[in-house]
Amino acid sequence: MKSQDIRDKFLKFFESKQHLIVPSAPMVTKDDPTLMFVNSGMAPFKEYFLGNGTPKNNRIADSQKCLRVSGKHNDLEEVGYDTYHHTLFEMLGNWSFGDYFKKEAITWAWELLTEVYGIDRDILYVTVFEGSDEDSLPMDQEAYDLWKAIIPEDRILMGNKKDNFWEMGDQGPCGPCSEIHVDIRSAEEKAKVDGKSLVNMDHPQVVEIWNLVFMQYNRKADTSLEPLPSKHIDTGMGFERLCMVLQDVQSNYDTDVFMPIIREIEAITHKDYGKDDKIDVAIRVISDHVRAVAFSIADGQLPSNNGAGYVIRRILRRAVRYGFTFLGKKEPFIYRLVDILVKKMGPAFPEIKEQKQLIENVIKEEETSFLRTLDQGLLLLDRILENATEKEISGAKVFELKDTYGFPEDLTDLILREKGFTYNAKQFEEKLKEQQDRGKQASELKSDDWTIIAEDDEQEFIGYDTTEANVKLTKYRKVTSKKDGEMYQLVFNMTPFYAEGGGQVGDKGYLQDASGDVVYIVDTKKENNIIIHFAKSLPKDINATFKASVDKKQRYRTECNHTATHLLHQALREVLGTHVEQKGSAVHSKYLRFDFSHFSKLTVEELRDVENFVNSRIEGKLPLEEQRNIPMQTAIDDGAMALFGEKYGDTVRTIRFGQSIELCGGTHVKNTGDIWHFKIVSEGAVAAGIRRIEAITNDAVKDFYFENNRAYFEIKDLLNNTKEPVKAVKALQDENSSLKKQIEALLKDKAKNLKGDLKNEISEVNGVNFIAKKVDLDASGIKDLCFELGGEVDNLFALFGADNNGKALLSCYISKNVVAERELNAGQIVRELGKHIQGGGGGQPFFATAGGKKPEGIDEAIKAVKDYVM
Ligand code: ATP
Ligand code: MG
Repeated sequence: MKSQDIRDKFLKFFESKQHLIVPSAPMVTKDDPTLMFVNSGMAPFKEYFLGNGTPKNNRIADSQKCLRVSGKHNDLEEVGYDTYHHTLFEMLGNWSFGDYFKKEAITWAWELLTEVYGIDRDILYVTVFEGSDEDSLPMDQEAYDLWKAIIPEDRILMGNKKDNFWEMGDQGPCGPCSEIHVDIRSAEEKAKVDGKSLVNMDHPQVVEIWNLVFMQYNRKADTSLEPLPSKHIDTGMGFERLCMVLQDVQSNYDTDVFMPIIREIEAITHKDYGKDDKIDVAIRVISDHVRAVAFSIADGQLPSNNGAGYVIRRILRRAVRYGFTFLGKKEPFIYRLVDILVKKMGPAFPEIKEQKQLIENVIKEEETSFLRTLDQGLLLLDRILENATEKEISGAKVFELKDTYGFPEDLTDLILREKGFTYNAKQFEEKLKEQQDRGKQASELKSDDWTIIAEDDEQEFIGYDTTEANVKLTKYRKVTSKKDGEMYQLVFNMTPFYAEGGGQVGDKGYLQDASGDVVYIVDTKKENNIIIHFAKSLPKDINATFKASVDKKQRYRTECNHTATHLLHQALREVLGTHVEQKGSAVHSKYLRFDFSHFSKLTVEELRDVENFVNSRIEGKLPLEEQRNIPMQTAIDDGAMALFGEKYGDTVRTIRFGQSIELCGGTHVKNTGDIWHFKIVSEGAVAAGIRRIEAITNDAVKDFYFENNRAYFEIKDLLNNTKEPVKAVKALQDENSSLKKQIEALLKDKAKNLKGDLKNEISEVNGVNFIAKKVDLDASGIKDLCFELGGEVDNLFALFGADNNGKALLSCYISKNVVAERELNAGQIVRELGKHIQGGGGGQPFFATAGGKKPEGIDEAIKAVKDYVM
């Protein structure tokens, strides 16, 4: 059965059991501070399990893209070494939100596996939660009895808390689970060792394929459990593992999900899969990682230097390293795998098909720059080894290579071993841990349980229509972090505060009760679909009615920037073309930032056209036309564009200003005329094929012109208040360049004279024409001198030293015939002499240069060089 059919059959099966089939949610999470990426099928539904929202249907099924590379679930280091853990994988899942429970979940899972897919019952084992003293929980008898009705008792195994009690995080919904395992070993192996003894023992052919989680408890901050008001089902089956079973192969990589990519890697690298362990691991790593990286980019997460972007960058770099080390690939090639990936996965996941070009560009650029880093790291490592006095390199050096140059320790280790060195791994681990602890402390967040003041089903956001309202507190909790100290998170029955989202910052403002007590709201964020207000303190009377007021000035400036962002988006598509797609935006009160796909730097004319376009829409005083709760399809038909990587509901809100129409949840000015003026302040590249524009509006533009004007008058002042400052600056520049030319000519003359003098100083030493001397020239002057002397004097051996503003320089020139006859090497000579000037260098055998920190050592080097010709 083809993988495509396996996926379809799963969805069809649950459709026939009244499940609503939904597409995979984007992989990068937006309103969940505990999670960077979706790491299980249930993550996108968390708000329903927490009771913060109502699902469209109480039965849902899907295939969800998951990424397990950070946090609680991190399989990264396994990937490639085993045959059944991936970074990115698809999790097939069915859910019941307060609807059916264990009975249906268990019987349907069994029916699907054995009847629909036709898996042999004799290769299946199931596990049941054995209970836990720590949590005072009994064994899951209900699940046991249900299984007993369909499978022989000796195939039901007891599992401990680690394997059979599923928790979303340190707090929140959780419950016992039942796993289904397959034993796909050969008959001979089965005869030798009983499959039962291999379940949950990390055997590559006795693996878990499906986990059925019975959510029935809530884990509180003090670690105690309380029953959930309604019980839920959450199941997850590894799609690639299921394909392995149904396609009768022994490894996920041997399925049609991975084989086409592996064949392509073989073709590109001229290496065969299945012959050599190290090569196989590398091929598996690369075939896995290219999927993770491609899907992340498609979901809007580009590789970068922090957060989720950094995780993606590290995955890609891991792939590059394996290619570099084990497949001998020193030039970019992973981007070339995107083509086959898109051919195979594009039909099920259109987002990668539509963004193929972008994905290729970004991966290629990342590969290129990391390969450059690897090269630099290699040079650096060479230098460390040259200066090493012992056979063991310090852990601090290896850490520095990793931290500052991105040069991974396993690669360092490999190279060290090849050269007969080792490094102090303990020191390295200590350094690494120090760094991790620093990161953890800053971001670690401890949260108390919510204190509920009033039950409330639906929290209402009224901030589109008003910035002030009377509100009641429904719940609150204390959170503590190193970074922000103690904070209170407040939730109201309704709120005018806009929560950070869609690129727009959260509102700030204050609460006031009848007695005049004021509490400042310093930020507003959304978490699992509820709006949370951050305050430094708790209101004195938590039961009071508060007047909640949003900081209007900041909100207004932010709105100017948000509306301008829409106009900018429209302008870019108009001026540059419809290939422009939004790739990220940040709307602050002081400025706006907009990232978009486009292949080249914008010209001055293009920037001007874009600015003019936006400003003419501002001058046109276009009114805001807002539509709330319209069907998604109607919005699309109206011309609104959906963004990749965004989660949209069935009904959406559209924002229209003239011809600009967008799906948007943000707040906007009532009329474009309110913006007053729009000004681009910078344009540049963020990644291959992604440009960034930063711009300002309103008051910020006034400040900008004011500042520029002041600078202009200062310049005029410096130019003796000339009427034409541009002309005056131009004249200065011309004068400057003519002076430069004159100096160059003078220096050339000086060098010529010098050459004449130096020629007289050449003496014969042991059959060569030898000179070693300190001169007053820069690097290129010395180079010219060497080559000119070399052209005029046979059998030359010259060493020149120079002190260039405190930096030492040594250049060695040896006539080619001398190089050959005497087996001399200028590169090696300057490297060795480099120790006198505390530096190093290299070059060719006949000409090489070293730089160093210690000019006082030049004389010693000049003295020492004579030994080479004696
Ligand atoms: P394992 O013990 O094999 O790592 P798990 O206990 O971490 O599995 P769950 O968190 O229960 O797995 O996830 C549900 C299903 O998802 C598993 O039964 C498995 O089929 C699949 N799965 C989990 N992790 C991975 C992974 N890294 N790559 C591919 N499939 C996975
Ligand atoms: Mg796991």
